[in-house]
Amino acid sequence: MKTLPFALIIAVILISLAFYIAKIRSKLPRKKVILLLGPPGSGKGTQAITLAKDLKIPHISTGDLFRQHIRTSTTLGQEVKALIADGKLVPDEIVMKMLFERLTEKDCENGYLLDGFPRTIPQAEALTSFLDGKSEIVAINLDVSDEIITKRIEGRLTCRECGNVQNKYFFPPKVESTCDECGGELVQRPDDSLDAVQERLKAYHTQSKPLLDFYTSKNTLKAVNGEMKTEEVYAALQSAYKEAL
Ligand SMILES: [Zn+2]
Repeated sequence: MKTLPFALIIAVILISLAFYIAKIRSKLPRKKVILLLGPPGSGKGTQAITLAKDLKIPHISTGDLFRQHIRTSTTLGQEVKALIADGKLVPDEIVMKMLFERLTEKDCENGYLLDGFPRTIPQAEALTSFLDGKSEIVAINLDVSDEIITKRIEGRLTCRECGNVQNKYFFPPKVESTCDECGGELVQRPDDSLDAVQERLKAYHTQSKPLLDFYTSKNTLKAVNGEMKTEEVYAALQSAYKEAL
């Protein structure tokens, strides 16, 4: 009869030990993969570069990868170049091939920040299976209203002479249509027209909504107000990241 309480004590100790080990293991630093999401004109590119630099992890943008492959004329680069020349979209398959190849490089060992990826649910799912539970995703969305985005992009004025960028709402030229820097003519690029912005926003909403739902359902999505000043957005971004750790 005395062996029963003894066995019980041993069982309790073993169970506690198992919980303790599980707790310690869950606290071990897992590689962090930061995803910065947000609409065009949310300023995420600039924020992404600063955050990656501060965290000493590589900033990986699919746009940069395309350009790099095209510049060095790799097989994938040649394919991408031909597609872009034909006005076609680069298919997911090529985007992921380029990206996942890059993510196996040595500098990605301690984590990285992805800018411009994933854009679609199939891309998000492919990333999840690529990471295979070995890394932790921290997805941060920069919230900016359509109204502000429209003003930021449609208001953009670019100097024909020096490339200086001003904004008719937020940083108006001192003299109408004239560059503050060099006196050159300020013009709106076709990409920045109201129609073009509305088209981009429409495409963005169609794609992003399911993506935000995807990361919300995995409990990895943080939202940051992207309508504040650049430094304020950055501070909020840092807090969101720390909170996720
Ligand atoms: Zn100028």
